[in-house]
Order: sequence, then C-alpha cells, then structure tokens
Amino acid sequence: MRYSGQCHCGKLTASFETQKTPAALGVRTCQCDFCRRHGAVNISDPDGEVTIDCAPKDVERYSFALRTADFLICKSCGVYVAAVMGEGDSIVSTLNVVGLRLKDFLAVAEAPAEYGAETTEERIARRFDKWTPTRFEHPDLAASNFGPH
Ligand SMILES: [Zn+2]
Repeated sequence: MRYSGQCHCGKLTASFETQKTPAALGVRTCQCDFCRRHGAVNISDPDGEVTIDCAPKDVERYSFALRTADFLICKSCGVYVAAVMGEGDSIVSTLNVVGLRLKDFLAVAEAPAEYGAETTEERIARRFDKWTPTRFEHPDLAASNFGPH
C-alpha cells in the first residue's frame, strides 16, 4: 500500500510504501523537545520505501544536538515533514504523519519513544536499522549528505 501526503502549502511531498497496515506498523511520538514542539507523530518501515519530492530552495534542513540527521521543514509553511539521514544508496528517513496529514495513521494509538540516553553511534545504528529506505526525486537532494555532519 502506498500513502502520500504533503506539507500545508504543498511544496514538500512524500509517499510511503509499506506492506504493513497502519495498526500493525504503529506510530511513535519521539519525546525530544523538537518533536514535542511540533506535535510530531512518526512512522518508519525498514522493509518499505519513502520517496520525497521537493525543490532544494523550498526546504530547510535543520539539525541540532548530535546533528546526526536533517529535519526537513518547509520554508513556506513551516511544517516539519521528515527526518533524513545518510547519503547515496543508504538514505533513510522517518516521516511525520501529522505534518504530512497521512490520515490513515492519525487514528493509530501513539507509542511514546525516548531516545535521549543513546550515544551518537547507537542513534545512527538504530536509524539505519529502523528507518525507511528513502530516495529523493530532485537530483541535488539525492546527491546530498544528510548527516552525520
Ligand atoms: Zn509547505
């Protein structure tokens, strides 16, 4: 099944392919300060696929703390859509179903997730293990390094 969504203004779009139902996949609420300020609810499937389409000029790539990922925020409407890590053929991401209005996932019971005690190495390893393989439509973004910086 493929689920597609976009930010509020529509300049950032993302689609998510998974064989799992939303209930089986589950949704996470990362307890970090950034995610709580945005009210983010996230999904990922290491056996799925994410495609992100936007122009580089329309996306703010925000990083903080350990700077191991880029948080993609629309420069026009301010919506946080995804966190992305890696480069080349090993880019992975987690999508914010609230920012993208992926309505099939909005009714799923949220599971709080606390990652604050991880080391940098543990965080990177977990994301490569749990996040979704991702590709960018735009060649400049496809060729980017999304951290660690
Ligand atoms: Zn937008």
